Amino acid sequence: MPIRIDILTTFPEMFAADAPAALGVSIPARARKAGLVEWHATDIRGYSTDKHRKTDERPFGGGPGMVMMCQPVWDAVMAVEAMDPRPATRILLTPQGQPLRQATVEELARRPRLLLLAGHYEGIDERVIQRLVPLEISIGDYVLSGGELAAMVLMDAVIRLIPGVLGHDESAGSDSFGVAATDPAGRRLLDCPHYTRPRVWEGMEVPEVLMSGDHGKIARWRLEQMIERTKARRPDLFPKIDLSSPPDAG
Ligand code: SAM
Repeated sequence: MPIRIDILTTFPEMFAADAPAALGVSIPARARKAGLVEWHATDIRGYSTDKHRKTDERPFGGGPGMVMMCQPVWDAVMAVEAMDPRPATRILLTPQGQPLRQATVEELARRPRLLLLAGHYEGIDERVIQRLVPLEISIGDYVLSGGELAAMVLMDAVIRLIPGVLGHDESAGSDSFGVAATDPAGRRLLDCPHYTRPRVWEGMEVPEVLMSGDHGKIARWRLEQMIERTKARRPDLFPKIDLSSPPDAG
């Protein structure tokens, strides 16, 4: 049975599965066509009891912007959850949430159903958030106009980890932040540099070791590169592990 992802949004057209944009191309499109995932975007406006299908109001206490109201959001969540008996993991995309990390993405890829709530304007009335108790996720320390692009980022990251989506040659374990199979310490490291033809480009040569045909040596070199890169670029990611000595890659 495919993993089901529901997106609750006031811009459902952004998620058209067959549109040649965003999730309509490449790996997410392939996964959907293979029946490994399905997604449905639901317009929150459709659940507004207001005759103009209003979903937002001015904030109590004054100030700029609009706030998404509890009623349409709550009713939309209840209605969409009732569409499938599997329990949905509720996720609110918000800059105030926990930063999205690969370990979370791995966990979400194992869930049968996700429900993504995208905010707009100033955000969503706090009371409905308190009642829904969603997992609050941020895709970075910056502010987007709406949660839709954040939802797409999360969806893309999750979909590629659903078993069967990536081909044999595209293992996610060797990507940055994945647990590399070649690392006996099982660390989440940045990926190594990659090269392809031609062997010499603009006078720059591909590292000799990659031409050696010695797979053990190549795996060790790649692991060293991953450790060096992580040390140099993102030491903050792994404060608890010792990056000083590469373990033997075997
Ligand atoms: N007033 C809110 C605040 O400062 O926390 C920001 C609201 S933002 C303009 C509108 C919506 O965009 C949010 O409700 C959220 O759904 C989405 N959004 C903005 N930045 C985001 C981020 N970094 N990660 C995830 N969602 C984000």
